[in-house]
Amino acid sequence: MEIKLQDKYKLYINGQWRDASDGATIKTYNPATGEFLAEIADASNDDVDAAVNAAKEAFATWGKTTVTERAAILNKIADIIDENKEYLATIESMDNGKPIRETMAADIPLSADHFRYFAGVIRADEGSATMVNEETLTMILREPIGVVGQIVPWNFPFLMAAWKLAPLIAAGDVSVFKPSSYTSLSVLELIRLTQDVIPKGVINLITGKGSKSGDYLQHHKGLDKLAFTGSTEIGRKIALSAAQNIIPSTLELGGKSANIFFKDADIDIALEGIQLGILFNQGQVCSAGSRIFVQEDFYDEFIEKAVKAFEKVKVGNPLDKNTQMGAQVSEEQLKKILGYVEIGKQEGAKVATGGERYIEGDAANGYFMKPTLLVDVNNNMRVAREEIFGPVGVVIKFKTEEEVIAMANDSDFGLAGGVFTRELNKAIRVARGIRTGRVWVNTYNSFPAGAPFGGYKESGIGRETHKVILDHYTQMKNIIINLSEKPGGMYVK
Ligand code: NAD
Repeated sequence: MEIKLQDKYKLYINGQWRDASDGATIKTYNPATGEFLAEIADASNDDVDAAVNAAKEAFATWGKTTVTERAAILNKIADIIDENKEYLATIESMDNGKPIRETMAADIPLSADHFRYFAGVIRADEGSATMVNEETLTMILREPIGVVGQIVPWNFPFLMAAWKLAPLIAAGDVSVFKPSSYTSLSVLELIRLTQDVIPKGVINLITGKGSKSGDYLQHHKGLDKLAFTGSTEIGRKIALSAAQNIIPSTLELGGKSANIFFKDADIDIALEGIQLGILFNQGQVCSAGSRIFVQEDFYDEFIEKAVKAFEKVKVGNPLDKNTQMGAQVSEEQLKKILGYVEIGKQEGAKVATGGERYIEGDAANGYFMKPTLLVDVNNNMRVAREEIFGPVGVVIKFKTEEEVIAMANDSDFGLAGGVFTRELNKAIRVARGIRTGRVWVNTYNSFPAGAPFGGYKESGIGRETHKVILDHYTQMKNIIINLSEKPGGMYVK
């Protein structure tokens, strides 16, 4: 599909498109070709103040809308996303480098479904009231929390926007939303396409540098909540700011998830699972199955087949429908990944396949990496402990179920994990044994809207993609009503 991008994208504050107050801009490039895509506004502190004020003002009326009204808006947004699926998928692939087969099959449709899911959930929730005793009725109401500062990363720009905006609209909150400066185009397009559907001031879009407007936003005294998805390093800062202002924060952070393959696994399902785990989205997935544990008796056969499979993966032009792996998001990210391959080698790991930049044909102009497996790794190496955030799986051998559970848990992170086996009881035992928020069994990296996602340990606080997120986006109000016809008798008899 031919896409005509705007040369320059503005901020969206109080229902109006405007340049940054000081005129600052950032250039954004296609990581697969190195081509200039567009300029985006680099918001100033004044712009963030204006966005917070606009949100606060909008909240006065938006916070009183009914669930029926908000559900209608959520459904309209979902329809608009569906109607513009290929357009949005193409922009997302151009801006991020991810293959169009993924944006068409996952990022965009999952986002539409997310808005629809929350439209349904809020209409089904009828609240609750309880008689504490014969004379006392207690009612629990969920009230919108108010102005939310929402900050998202570059790896799933559109989907992460849906994960943040759908529950926010559902709950009746207002947003100052900041995408990553690397990948702002798809959410800018979403706001443009839905601007007549969402009342002004409800969503205010601030683009620009994280260290500038992002940092100013997270410290802003006008916020009632912070919602962040990104690295553990920045997440820690967000948690501190939230604590300083005594507001809640939800944090979806990094990971180093264990993908565990037992000897009784179905070989084809396991081969699909190892690739879904570490090659999906070029390995730039918080929940990537980046620590690959393989049982001893299965190891040689499985790794030999996995190497062959990795070497068959079609890397290249993200807009080609047959491409399975696109470009890393930036040169900086590619260098970081290559740096980790070197660290692994120095630590004694061996490159079983890949380990270098992919430069065939036109790929030399972009930031492509070969699908990579490092073997002879142990769980104490830096490559097994730190998030590489690229298509680099580190392979570790194990003997027993107990041993692999212990190694899986020997990590600062606790986001996700995978278990491949044909034995149901073993799958459930291992899933229960791993201290993470999500475990996939005989599959990996699927993200349905109705399943809660989030981390234990340094992988975060809170859950998204399930109705439980509405608890994080609302305050609980309790009203206690005395139904007695007489005074209580403590002071008045
Ligand atoms: P990042 O932490 O560098 O940036 C995330 C966002 O924060 C960006 O919008 C950035 O501009 C902004 N930011 C940067 N500095 C800031 C500051 N000082 N104050 C406020 N905002 C600031 O992360 P990234 O490199 O964009 O994304 C990759 C990370 O995101 C990985 O660690 C990955 O695991 C994580 N992630 C987690 C989940 C999850 O659901 N758990 C999902 C996707 C990505």
